[in-house]
Amino acid sequence: MANGHDGAAAATADIGVIGGSGFYSFLDDVTEIQVSTPYGDPSDSLFLGEIAGRKVAFLPRHGRGHHLPPHRINYRANLWALRSVGVRQVLGPCAVGGLRAEYGPGTLLVPDQLVDRTKSRAQTYFDGVPLPDGSVPNVVHTTFADPYCPEGRRTALKAARARDWAAVDGGTMVVVEGPRFSTRAESRWHAAAGWSVVGMTGHPEAVLARELRLCYTSLSLVTDLDAGAEAGEGVSHAEVLKVFGENVARLRDVLFDAVAALPATAERDCLCTRAHEGWDLGIELP
Ligand SMILES: [Zn+2]
Repeated sequence: MANGHDGAAAATADIGVIGGSGFYSFLDDVTEIQVSTPYGDPSDSLFLGEIAGRKVAFLPRHGRGHHLPPHRINYRANLWALRSVGVRQVLGPCAVGGLRAEYGPGTLLVPDQLVDRTKSRAQTYFDGVPLPDGSVPNVVHTTFADPYCPEGRRTALKAARARDWAAVDGGTMVVVEGPRFSTRAESRWHAAAGWSVVGMTGHPEAVLARELRLCYTSLSLVTDLDAGAEAGEGVSHAEVLKVFGENVARLRDVLFDAVAALPATAERDCLCTRAHEGWDLGIELP
């Protein structure tokens, strides 16, 4: 095994998908379980199902009915809950704005870099606050130069292309606090910096996954051109929902194919498993 925490006997899933009900509502057998964590409750129940023999836990990021705005999502609880049921690899589909004219609505981008412009979110487990079992997380500085799993990225891109979706390989996602969309000036600034897409939920999801040694891959669906990249009145929520709705079926197909093709959890040997080499965490990961 790649590390001592993998392959928990009580595992009920080994792959996690953080996304809405559109992704699991067509599965035959779905079991709903409630999981609580030392950080509070996740966004919703976990929905357990099986795809091509792989056990998958789905978690609606915004909760059922989409009641949680991006800045109020309990990202720490979400990732902890997934790991506690055995998940070691996570796919994170999300809606983003395109910062370049060529990344129009319907573009799928699998980013390889991330810029954090969020402001108010807990983004570490290693904050010195004791857990309910009395253990205290040490100060730990997690390696995050490459925020996404290289194996997961490769798998997602291959799955998209096999379904004739010319997914963009790499690019930088800038994550903003929201819930408002960007001003035109912010959007032009993001584009001028060379960043590719803008989202509101990709962080701290990615870093918390890394802190738990989970493989994390973002599948970013462009639902609109961001304010600085288009000439109209700016992004509207109606437009985002419309484009996401139009693409949810093929995004689900790509996700399911990627789930089936991900490496066996016990054979993971990517950088994600080595995020804390040399550190004493002070706590047991779930
Ligand atoms: Zn990985």
